[in-house]
Amino acid sequence: MFIDAHAHLDHPSFHEDVEQVIERAKKAGVGIIVANGVNPETNRRVLELAKKYAIVKAALGIYPIEALQQEIKEGEYPLKPNVFDVNEEIDFIRKQKNHIVGIGECGLDDHHVQGKLESQKKVFEKMIGLAEQVKKPIIVHSRKAEQEVLDMLISSRIKKVLLHCFSGNMKQVKQGEEEGYYFSIPANVTFSTHFQEMVKRININQLLTETDCPYLSPFKGQRNEPAFVVESTKKIAELKGFTLEETENNIMMNYKTLFQ
Ligand SMILES: [Zn+2]
Repeated sequence: MFIDAHAHLDHPSFHEDVEQVIERAKKAGVGIIVANGVNPETNRRVLELAKKYAIVKAALGIYPIEALQQEIKEGEYPLKPNVFDVNEEIDFIRKQKNHIVGIGECGLDDHHVQGKLESQKKVFEKMIGLAEQVKKPIIVHSRKAEQEVLDMLISSRIKKVLLHCFSGNMKQVKQGEEEGYYFSIPANVTFSTHFQEMVKRININQLLTETDCPYLSPFKGQRNEPAFVVESTKKIAELKGFTLEETENNIMMNYKTLFQ
């Protein structure tokens, strides 16, 4: 059974055919898709999907860019429809604790927006506190802010961490590994030398697989979808020198250890 530990099934590009996308994932042997919300609207959509499809598990979060509520209100960003009360949304997520497997997507981003880490940190701090409170793993985005993310996680009491699509350097990878954090490897590991290097270095017991669909497709120019997580698993098997079956079982075991 394959695991897609990080997907965006709420994304508009799946509105038309989410049913078929889920069918294809099942046919490919995918057993779990962790759908991640990023704001109030997508968090609710993720809950609906998890209710409707047994294969879909919900994770609810506040994406780092959505965390910039003050800036959005002031009109610096084209995200006006997404103005919401961060504390109210955190309360909402807390109340869903029996319907979710994790907290995320959340974290810090200094790539899509720059120089706004201080306001993002305030919200990420609250998300870390929330994950501790509800005793669920936290699924973390860390683009171009990898060290800041590691520093915040390490200085908190949180232990159950999934660093999704981690683009930090190998020293930072080692730092996360030593803390016992998990890393989910996207399907573009088929051609990304960065992710291939990570797979070689990280203990197999701390690896998970993801698609981050519709982004990061292993097939250039094509929309990504959960069925393609098979490609990351195959590549991990090849790089680690294990059979596909051994790799599948190991990653399933890792999923259970982190999420259950
Ligand atoms: Zn994502």
